[in-house]
Amino acid sequence: MSIQRIAFSAANLQPRVSYQTQKNEKNRNASDFSFSGMSSASSLAVRNNFMSNVSFRGLDNDTKNTGAGLKKSIKDLDDIQGKRALVRVDINVPLDENKNVTDDTRIQAIRPTLDYLKDRGAKIVLMAHLGRPKGQRNEEYSLKPVADYMSELLGEEVVFIPDIKDAPEMVNNLKNGQIALLENIRFYKEEEAKNDDMTFAKELAELGDFYVNDAFGAAHRNHTSTAKLAEVLKPAVSGLLMEKEIRCLSQALDNPERPFTAIVGGSKVSSKIGVLENLLDKVDNLIIGGGMAYTFVKANGGEIGNSLCEDDQIEVARAIMKKAEEKGVNLIFDTDVLATDDFSGNGTTKIVKINEIPDGFMGVDSGIESREKFADVLKSSKTILMNGPVGVFENPKFSQGTQAVLAAIVDATKNGATSVIGGGDSVAAAKQFQDADDFTHVSTGGGASLEFIEGKILPGVDALDDV
Ligand code: AMP
Repeated sequence: MSIQRIAFSAANLQPRVSYQTQKNEKNRNASDFSFSGMSSASSLAVRNNFMSNVSFRGLDNDTKNTGAGLKKSIKDLDDIQGKRALVRVDINVPLDENKNVTDDTRIQAIRPTLDYLKDRGAKIVLMAHLGRPKGQRNEEYSLKPVADYMSELLGEEVVFIPDIKDAPEMVNNLKNGQIALLENIRFYKEEEAKNDDMTFAKELAELGDFYVNDAFGAAHRNHTSTAKLAEVLKPAVSGLLMEKEIRCLSQALDNPERPFTAIVGGSKVSSKIGVLENLLDKVDNLIIGGGMAYTFVKANGGEIGNSLCEDDQIEVARAIMKKAEEKGVNLIFDTDVLATDDFSGNGTTKIVKINEIPDGFMGVDSGIESREKFADVLKSSKTILMNGPVGVFENPKFSQGTQAVLAAIVDATKNGATSVIGGGDSVAAAKQFQDADDFTHVSTGGGASLEFIEGKILPGVDALDDV
């Protein structure tokens, strides 16, 4: 069986198994909790098959993840002068009520790919989505304001194609190096259709001579423009952002320099089970912080007052602690926390032990002792992965713990550690409190990076050509 086929069968298997696990979580007890319904060994095997399929070429010479079965990138294409590059990008940017782009991080992130293609004289046809128009044309979600913004940013017109029916002629009129952006691809219900019909994919394929996927943020979607298209338009290769995302995340997960420390925070254990499970097979230290920590504390008999707790996840928390012990993973929780009687930040706050939180109070941030402890562990780590904040960082009064963690990660990075920030809220916090350039990598994909860290196959990556 070829490597490509192995990856496909793994892709078919894993999401189904994980789905069942999540659905059944309420009925589980500790003894039958088996992490995504797969043994750790088989889960790792799936990941290894996947990782051997990914290309890291051209971006970093010291990765060990090279060998058979690599994915092609635009750097593998020879003469692209005058050729039409059909490129899926993730420019799902926030707009204000006047349709101004309020954060252009995702647009900036695809610029290396645009520059690369432009410099080599390709005609660039971008496909993207904005919001969730659910298969219907809805001007509210038009990409026209984004095309205008990009025109201004790039200092040249980005040709806006308002409808696919206009696309063939407009694409034909493009000059070498020129960029066009197709209207929101999710205006077409076929984009997200869950069937094997390839009609829409073939229609899109007419617009390009080769396919590029640079939309890491949408790579966990098995949609026409993110995955199916790669079957009918060849070559099908990754863009430079996609390549960097995968290289950085996989380098951290699969070839970590040790000690490897992961920080998993946020509000819910239930949304991070897959992440915790996969990380336990890989890390030396696992810091569990934020709201999700209290379910663990309660599982250990602690008093958590009014803190966030998922009672139906207590057995899961116990199983995770047991597995950590078996694996020799150093599981680290807050010892002290900042507790308040008013979530809005206007009430009384006090530092208390995490397992002695009084009734009427809830833990909302790491305490002083905990921040120091986390910082010590992080500063002596060589690989760091953060997914989720350790407090309610959106409120400045409860942001000290998350700030301390991020500062320690930056220090460690300056001392040579590899740091990767993955997942929506930690990325927002990283950008708010630090300079994103001070981390090794800040992922542009929320759901995609979460699924990647869970060890799942991303259809958008899987569909690309092997080297
Ligand atoms: P998630 O989406 O699960 O990654 O959770 C991120 C959210 O967790 C952020 O909005 C934080 O405000 C929230 N969070 C972090 N710590 C706590 C806490 N101790 N109590 C309640 N929410 C928290």
